[in-house]
Amino acid sequence: MKTFEFEHATTVEGAVDRVVATGGKYYAGGTNLLDLMKGGVEEPAALVDLRRLGLRDVTATESGGVLVGSGVTNSAVANHPLIRSRYPVLSQAILSGATTQLRNMATVGGNLMQRTRCPYFMETAFAQCNKRNPGSGCAAIAGFNREHAIFGVGGSCVATHPSDMAVALAVLEATVHVHGPDGRRAVSISEFFRRPGDEPQRDNTLHTAELIVGIELPPSPFAEHSWYLKVRDRHSYAFALVSVAAGLRVEDGVISAAAVALGGVAPMPWRVAEADAGLLGQPPTEAVFRRAAEQIMAGARPLSQNGFKVDLGKHSVVRALSSALRVR
Ligand code: SF4
Repeated sequence: MKTFEFEHATTVEGAVDRVVATGGKYYAGGTNLLDLMKGGVEEPAALVDLRRLGLRDVTATESGGVLVGSGVTNSAVANHPLIRSRYPVLSQAILSGATTQLRNMATVGGNLMQRTRCPYFMETAFAQCNKRNPGSGCAAIAGFNREHAIFGVGGSCVATHPSDMAVALAVLEATVHVHGPDGRRAVSISEFFRRPGDEPQRDNTLHTAELIVGIELPPSPFAEHSWYLKVRDRHSYAFALVSVAAGLRVEDGVISAAAVALGGVAPMPWRVAEADAGLLGQPPTEAVFRRAAEQIMAGARPLSQNGFKVDLGKHSVVRALSSALRVR
């Protein structure tokens, strides 16, 4: 591993200043970043440690939502009474990821900032990877791409974003609060991740040195009926081949609110607004769920090895919506 400076920040402003000054990276749980540094994928000149900043509260907001500090661990969020009662889909999504040990270390800010697990990105022995080495090509397009994206990508990179938490946040329409050299701003989760385009090395829309300080959850209509379904090669400690976060509200026998987001299929949680809208006013039947699933998967563009994700996605959407309906 390349040598680097290690500094403790005690204020958000101080942390931002030090990352601007050093060109370094923020360090919190370190569960992804340290692996990447050990493998030579990331080589920051400095790490600015955020663990003395606080940002570890989960608090109810006046509007009926919840604000989660970016330094709260994944375990603490998933098990918090406010999250379990108001946003069970978020608890479920987080608890489906990684391992207990990793969830105890990893923070919610870091969860959003984690990088793809594309094997060509993770292993520097592979020369071609536009995300790690812009302009070098994408080895996955003609190579091993079973786990890669079927939506939202182009010729520069076909990697998926690995976060389960982000898929639930998409259904809950969370807002990401960030602090940077120009002060604070709020970014909708739907605007947080980006397609690879001309800059596949950039996973999100954060500006240079911006730091996630919190995630705000608005009041949710899905506290009663939601589900997170994760389909993967083994039962635990594996990333999603396809995952689905589904939320429903049913009033007088018809669906009055609905949201579906898919993980494991795109460089961001994947939502199809027309499919959500098509559920409204309908009875919550399997036929209606199937129609939504067809609509969501209609735009899929599979690669050579991942055509199975289209059918898997359809079945998973139906199953997640059906499970959301049954849960109480
Ligand atoms: Fe790199 Fe993206 Fe291609 Fe994977 S899919 S090799 S991360 S450019």
